[in-house]
Amino acid sequence: MIETVLFAELAWPQVASRIAAGAPIFLPIGATEQHGRHMAMNVDAVLPTAIAERVARRVGGLVAPTIPYGNRSQPKTGGGRAFPGTLDLTAATFSAVVRDVLLGLFRHGAQRIVVLNGHYENISPAIEAIELAFDAIGRDRADGLIVLRLDHWDLIAPGTIDRMFPDGYPGIELEHASVIETSMMLALRPELVDLAAAVDDGPAEFVRWERYGAPTPEVPASGVLSMTKGASAEKGEWLLHDIVEALVAAIEREFASNQRGPA
Ligand code: ZN
Ligand code: MN
Repeated sequence: MIETVLFAELAWPQVASRIAAGAPIFLPIGATEQHGRHMAMNVDAVLPTAIAERVARRVGGLVAPTIPYGNRSQPKTGGGRAFPGTLDLTAATFSAVVRDVLLGLFRHGAQRIVVLNGHYENISPAIEAIELAFDAIGRDRADGLIVLRLDHWDLIAPGTIDRMFPDGYPGIELEHASVIETSMMLALRPELVDLAAAVDDGPAEFVRWERYGAPTPEVPASGVLSMTKGASAEKGEWLLHDIVEALVAAIEREFASNQRGPA
């Protein structure tokens, strides 16, 4: 069989031996959500999956199948549900799915798990999923299980943001389908990006509250919350480099001692 870091491409004896050897298991969590006129719906799944694959190759890890549906898209962070094609899970459903996958990995012996998130609205229900998994396992008998949870964009170095946005950074809260995501997609999956279809109708100017039961006209019609101008594959590689290096370092720091395997 081929050399792979993808959990689902292994036969069960290989899964068993890799887990027994202490392989960190990555669980990418994404979304199927509008990302402007210029990008595919799968950005929030493609990015954490690709990052997890790069990191897994460095640290001897495995990448579990990505959760392709995310917690409900919100207007101020994802454009919201008014755009055709966005498919959501409710928070409770999302938490239950992630909890069940974590429990399955634990049942098969995984003790080092990284939940790598690509969709803002997944943050709270992913935290709840991890808490529910520990509730189910029992806090006093988690048998050494450690779960890390992070959002890939939080590992971008501040200096890289300065290089990317010499004219000023609109802020991570407006980066949905904007320069950061578009650049990483251009680096990883350029065939899923069509910059010629991008519309420059941002940045969004949101009020400091959320509005339910009425539309959110502040969302730009394109679905891009900030801008795509300035996105490039080269910048995407800067970002991926930052995130991969920081995640490798985090894993070495958190998982170095206390690895499973022969004592
Ligand atoms: Zn996104
Ligand atoms: Mn999203």
